[in-house]
Formats: sequence, structure tokens, C-alpha cells
Amino acid sequence: MKDNTLGKNSLLREEKEEKILVDPYGRKVTGLRISITDRCNLSCMYCHNEGADCCSCGPRGYEMSPELICGIVREAAKFGVRKVKFSGGEPLFRKDFEDILACLPPLKEVSATTNGILLEKRAKTLKAAGLDRVNVSLDTLDPKKYEEITGAPPGTLEKVIRGINSAVEAELTPVKLNMVLLKGINENEIDAMMDFIRPYEGKVILQLIELMNIDPELSKYTIDSKALEKNLEERASEVRVRHLHHRKKYVIDGVEVEFVRPMDNSEFCAHCSRLRVTADGKLKPCLLVHDNLVDVGEARSPEEIEKLLMLAVSRRKPYYTPTAKIEKLERMKK
Ligand code: SF4
Repeated sequence: MKDNTLGKNSLLREEKEEKILVDPYGRKVTGLRISITDRCNLSCMYCHNEGADCCSCGPRGYEMSPELICGIVREAAKFGVRKVKFSGGEPLFRKDFEDILACLPPLKEVSATTNGILLEKRAKTLKAAGLDRVNVSLDTLDPKKYEEITGAPPGTLEKVIRGINSAVEAELTPVKLNMVLLKGINENEIDAMMDFIRPYEGKVILQLIELMNIDPELSKYTIDSKALEKNLEERASEVRVRHLHHRKKYVIDGVEVEFVRPMDNSEFCAHCSRLRVTADGKLKPCLLVHDNLVDVGEARSPEEIEKLLMLAVSRRKPYYTPTAKIEKLERMKK
């Protein structure tokens, strides 16, 4: 059902007696991805700073308060948002991360993406405060390569592995290992990574991620995603498709492997159900678009936050879209 009181282009659809956010292209918004800090203890060679504009990269001082973060989530949850993922920078840099988790409204899933370095000591308290699960970035099991990719000092990989073990013990599961595939660097380590997760008996899942080569310097590291997908398909005893981004999941020799292929992928964008929030309090309709952000940092009331959420949803547009699909979506808009 269209609600014109809430912004010309935003849509609120009535579904099962609940109002849900739907963007002008018919995509439901059911998740938030919230960056809670720009600070990080690594400098990964492919980092895109969650799509932050380059002029705003790096520590800028201002970070959203737990009250503002929870206020945004509360308003979004009124309109069907059920999943929240916290990211950074490195979210565990926030000493008040547990406070943020503790003030959230009830949700279906609360997760975080972390590099795992600080996880060993925090896994239990994060779980107790309401975190359901974590994604841990781990591109390689080779300590030297790890240091080259991330710029970390020696000994860091061991800390990450201890962090993964603590997360499993604290039941922040399934733990997803995010492995960004880099041609000539770690593309031959997929099987080793599967062997690494097998003893965790389903509590750890491997997530292979296509490199986002937004920077032309990185294009030489881009792997052949289609060939990899074919190979995974041939080896899988089962293939499932997730609603989010239509990501494929393969079950291979008893382990679960998910493939995230964001580049030039119109299927991915057509099933994009997340709205992003930047560390300095801006609603970001798309990872790759930098001129349509909605500043929510100064919002003083739930009503204001609600209006700004509607505005951001009205600005959402699939980034990669085949022409035919765009025309169809444009017709749906009318
Ligand atoms: S529209 Fe596409 S590029 Fe933009 S955030 Fe969604 S999936 Fe990513």
C-alpha cells in the first residue's frame, strides 16, 4: 500500500498486517548494515571503507552514539527491518559495542563483521549483550601472506584463529569466514580453507568473496568468478540460493561454502535488501553511490529519524542493472 504522507517516492507496503519498507524498484528493505567506526587496526590492500568517499576515509573523530544507533534501528524495526549487521572499520574498536547491542529492539538476527583480532577477549560479553553471530575476515592461513594482505604485524594470524575459536565457544555461530579471493595470492587456498573449517562441524562456514576492484590498480587480482562458480557447482552435493543478493551456497565434502559475487551482477543488486549507515551518521542507499546520502546525525526525534529513513529508501536504486530489467523496474515504479 502506497503511503504518500511519507515522501513522494518512498513506499510502505502492508504485508501480514505490518508496514514494510519497499524502495521505488520494488525491493524490500529488511536489513541494516551499520558501520560504527572508521577506525581499524589493519590496512587491507582491497579495503573500500564500506563505500565511504575517499575524502572521508580514516578516523574523523565523530562516531554515532549508542542512543542514535539504537534509535535508527528502533525506527527501522517498526517497518520490517529484522536483521542488523555491524561493521567498521573494526567494530570491536568501539569499547561501548556491548552497550549498543544491549539497547537494540528485538530482531531476528544481529551480527558483526570483524577482523577477529580483538575477538578472543570479547566473544562472551558480546554474546551476552545480544550478538547472535560474527563474520571474521580471513583470506589466508599462511602467516606471511596474511601480513602482506592486511599490513598486520607478525603473530596476528594466530590471534585471529584464537578469536574464531572463542567465537565458536561463545556460540556466535555460524561463524562465517570472509575470504576475499585474490588472483595469484590466495586463489589456490580454497581447499585448505575448507579443510580448516571441517573440524568445526558446521559451526564455521566459508564465504568466498569476489574482489570489489573499484580501484583499477586492483584489477590484476581479479579471479575468473564464472569458472570458480562452475567448479563449485560441479563439486557440490547440494546448491541453495539465499534471498539476500541471490547468493549461492554450496555443500562440498560436508562443508558449506557461500559465494558472494557483487561485481557487474544485476541479480545481486536486484535482491539487495540492506540499507547502509555510515560511521558518521549518514544513511547510504547504495555501497557504490556517494552523492545520495541522508544525514541522520542531527535527528532529534523518532519522527525525524523515520522521515529520513523514508527519504533514504526512496533514493535506493539497483547499481548494476541490465537495460531490459531497468525498463521493467521503471514501469513498476509508475
Ligand atoms: S544496489 Fe548493488 S551495489 Fe548497491 S549496495 Fe545494493 S548490491 Fe551493492
